[in-house]
Amino acid sequence: MIPITSKLPQTGTTIFTVMSALAAETKAINLSQGFPDFDCAPQLTKLVAKAMKDGHNQYAPMAGLMSLREQISIKTEKLYGAVYNPDTEVTVTAGGTQAIYTALSAVIHPNDEVIIFEPAYDSYAPAIKLMGGVVKSLELEPPDYRIPWDMVKRLITNKTRMIILNSPQNPTGTILSMADIDELTAIVKSQDILILSDEVYEHLVYDGQEHHSMARYPELRKRSFITVSFGKLFHATGWKVGYCLAPANLMQEFRKVHQFLVFSVNTPMQAGIADYLKDENVYAGLPDFFQQKRDHFREGLSQSRFKLLSCQGSYFQCVSYQGLTDEKDTDLAIRITNEFGVASIPVSAFYSKGTDHHILRFCFAKRQETLDKAVERLLKV
Ligand code: GLN
Repeated sequence: MIPITSKLPQTGTTIFTVMSALAAETKAINLSQGFPDFDCAPQLTKLVAKAMKDGHNQYAPMAGLMSLREQISIKTEKLYGAVYNPDTEVTVTAGGTQAIYTALSAVIHPNDEVIIFEPAYDSYAPAIKLMGGVVKSLELEPPDYRIPWDMVKRLITNKTRMIILNSPQNPTGTILSMADIDELTAIVKSQDILILSDEVYEHLVYDGQEHHSMARYPELRKRSFITVSFGKLFHATGWKVGYCLAPANLMQEFRKVHQFLVFSVNTPMQAGIADYLKDENVYAGLPDFFQQKRDHFREGLSQSRFKLLSCQGSYFQCVSYQGLTDEKDTDLAIRITNEFGVASIPVSAFYSKGTDHHILRFCFAKRQETLDKAVERLLKV
C-alpha cells in the first residue's frame, strides 16, 4: 500500500449516503436524505427529452446555456427585484453543493477564516478545510436556533474572509428575519467580508413569510455568492443542476474554478429547464404545496412522544426526544430505522464537534400516503 496523508482525516461518508443506504437495506421509509418521493412534472421531462431529440447533446457553454441564464436572471428579478447580468453574473452548476465548493475554492486562501453556523449542511466545513481555510463555527442553540449576532461580532478577526448563511436553514427549518439582515449588514458593512448564501430552499418558506435573499440588499449582494438548486425547485434532485449568482468581479473568479472542475453542465437538462422556467406558475405554488405537507406531518407527529421544533422553511421537520431516552441521536436514528422502519438524520451529523442535543431530522417532501405510513410507525416509538 502506498501511504497517503488524508486531507480530511476526520471525515467519513456523508450521513445522507449512510442513512439512505440503511433505509434501502432495511426497506424502511426513507425520511432521511432530503429528496421527494414523487416525480417531477411530466412537462419538464418532456421538454428535456425534446431537447435531447432535437440534438442538444454537445457541450453547453462553460457558464451555462444563455437561454437558461436569461430565465434565471428574469426569475431573480421577479422574486427579489435584483438584476443579475446573465452574461457575467449567472453561472449554471452541477447542483448546489458544487456551487458551494466552487465559490469557496475561488476565494478562500490558506488560513482565511470562514464563519459557519452549526448545525450546518455537512459540505461546508470539509470544503473550507480542503482550501486550507479555518472553520470558525458558531453553535446555535435549540429550540430556536437564532443567530447570536453579538457572538458573531466577537468571532470576527482580520483573517475573517467569509460568512456562510443558509436560509431557509438545513436542518433546523429556521429562516433569516429582517432583524437578522440588519445585524448582518451592520457587521459586514465596514469590512471586506464575503458572504456565501446557500438559498437552495428559497421557495420553501411558510406561513406567508418572506425569503430574505441576499440579492435584495445591495450592501449584502455586492459581497455574496448565492447558490441555488433546480433539484429542490423542480423535485428532480437526481439531475444535479443548480446555479450561482454573484457580482461580476466575484463571478469572474468563480468561473476560473468552475471551468476546470466541471467545465460545463449537461446540455439537455439546461435546455429543458430554460423552456420550463418561462412559466412562473411552475414555482409560484411551491410554498403552499410544501406547507400542506409540513402541516399534515406535524399534525400526525403531534400525537407522538417526540417534541416538534418549529419549521418556518425548508422541507425538514426536527423533533426532540429529550427525556424519552439517553441514546445518542446517531444510535436512535439507526434503531428507529431498524426496529420501526423509518429513517431520519441525526442532527449531531451537522456539528463539527458532533454535538448531540437529542434531535432527529425528518424530510417531509413525500406523498401523503408515505407521510401517513411514517407517522403511524413513529407513533409506536
Ligand atoms: N441537501 C440534502 C439533505 O440535506 C441532501 C444533499 C446530499 O445528499 N448531498 O438531505
